[in-house]
Amino acid sequence: MKLTGIGASEGVAVGPAFVPATSRPDPERYRITEDEVDAELQRFEEAVEAVADDLSETGERLRAAGSEEEAGILDFHIEMAEDPELASEVEERIRNLESPEAAVLAVGEEYAAQYAAMDDEYLAARGDDVLDVTGQISARLMGRAASSFEALETPSVVISHTLAPSDTARIQKGMALGFVTAEGSRTSHVSIMARSMGIPAVVGVGPALEKVLDAKTVAVDGAEGYAISDPDAETVADFERMSGALAEERAALDEYRHVEAVTSEGLRIEVAANLGSSSEAEGALEWGAEGVGLFRTEFLFMERDELPSEDEQYEAYSAVARAFGEKPVIVRTLDVGGDKNLPGVDQPQEENPFLGWRGIRMSLDTPGLFQPQLRAILRAAANGNLKVMFPMVADVGELEAAKETLLKCRRELESEGAKIGEVETGVMIETPAAAVCAAELAEEAAFFSIGTNDLVQYTLAADRGNERLRRLQNADHPAVLALIRRACEAANAAGIPVGVCGEAAGEPAMIPKLVELGVTELSMAAPQIPRAKKVVSEL
Ligand code: PEP
Ligand code: MG
Repeated sequence: MKLTGIGASEGVAVGPAFVPATSRPDPERYRITEDEVDAELQRFEEAVEAVADDLSETGERLRAAGSEEEAGILDFHIEMAEDPELASEVEERIRNLESPEAAVLAVGEEYAAQYAAMDDEYLAARGDDVLDVTGQISARLMGRAASSFEALETPSVVISHTLAPSDTARIQKGMALGFVTAEGSRTSHVSIMARSMGIPAVVGVGPALEKVLDAKTVAVDGAEGYAISDPDAETVADFERMSGALAEERAALDEYRHVEAVTSEGLRIEVAANLGSSSEAEGALEWGAEGVGLFRTEFLFMERDELPSEDEQYEAYSAVARAFGEKPVIVRTLDVGGDKNLPGVDQPQEENPFLGWRGIRMSLDTPGLFQPQLRAILRAAANGNLKVMFPMVADVGELEAAKETLLKCRRELESEGAKIGEVETGVMIETPAAAVCAAELAEEAAFFSIGTNDLVQYTLAADRGNERLRRLQNADHPAVLALIRRACEAANAAGIPVGVCGEAAGEPAMIPKLVELGVTELSMAAPQIPRAKKVVSEL
């Protein structure tokens, strides 16, 4: 069966399908009869045992491979699966003639809702774990294999309703061959992660995803935006051919990796990489990155249960600074909220998270989070050419307040005698307000970086993750281009540089337009760099 969606990350892959437990559809059967009760109770007990056995087997394997953190999560999942209270609630429902597969899901949802309502953010995040475990038990009762992300041990195509950044972080390196999701758009975070990992992804396939949850094998074409479940031999051969052709195409672009991108008129455009973690730095340099235009620090905070300390952050930022040497590295302060939640931080449940307490708003309100990050950046700046950038700024007051906090941190560190470096302060232009007020912001900023992903979403009032709004998720819209023009003109008048770090920066059709508008730095997923350099060189 063919599923069409949005081509979110180029490349093709064929491999076994992996469906996380949370993506299983509703049970086919909801009610049982009086005389089935005993047998169903027995079946439930056996399913719990089987899931717990599987989890502990995977945990042991992970531990043997040195993945202690993931193994710890599985220990916790086993405890949940065997929780006597959960079991007794499910059993009561079975006695009331609910099918065990429906009962365990219902109890899981009740627990998850209770967790979500908790004040403690760590516990609130445990709701997903309960859903994961009860999903596995239910899937087992329905005779389907189902597992959690940590359990993925064969390179596979991940098929999931949705994939949060915290989900992708749980997948072990090299185990995801491709992603297929029901939700999402080109600029949702799963797509961004897929592109920087160089993994093909098709997102936004919609409810049709449910029809392929039982597929054994899946083929993905992340450029054309489709996936095929259980492809026949001929299709597999086609995909293998395409994969070979793509490898050739990439090889042909290799000569552009380490050239400077200069237009025929002699305009030099800096082509940089967007990074999600310090471990991507070396790879980005190999792709030809001339700097880091956007280091999304939030991923450093999301791959774990507690917040990273100032020292840990210092190490991560220093690693990138050292790897890039004199090349500029723009570290963006924490941008959570929207579809990115943080374990360990008290984030409210919001009606409209994308219009909520995110980015600089949250940082300014949470000095305990913001100041250690700024201190770590200032200290790491002694090891390279770091710059700092603030996300989601809507007015000059926010930028001033952020700069004041930075100054306070600098003074503190100086009085402590710490080694620190100079950092330029830039601002993201990703709210329409920032673009409109660009002239004022330019007086206070050393550079602009346009975040087209959010700028498009807020200008066109179109959720960046909603697959139905594909037509509007487009930086090439006159309203968006007008705002980009305005920001470029303001920057130009103030004599500061403008870059683009949203996904438009890596799109061959957008590059000429952005350069024409006055953008001089383009920052993108590293695998896109050689092609962007080629496009610029041909202008
Ligand atoms: C953007 O909004 O364009 C951007 C680069 O930031 P993020 O995708 O992390 O929101
Ligand atoms: Mg953004």
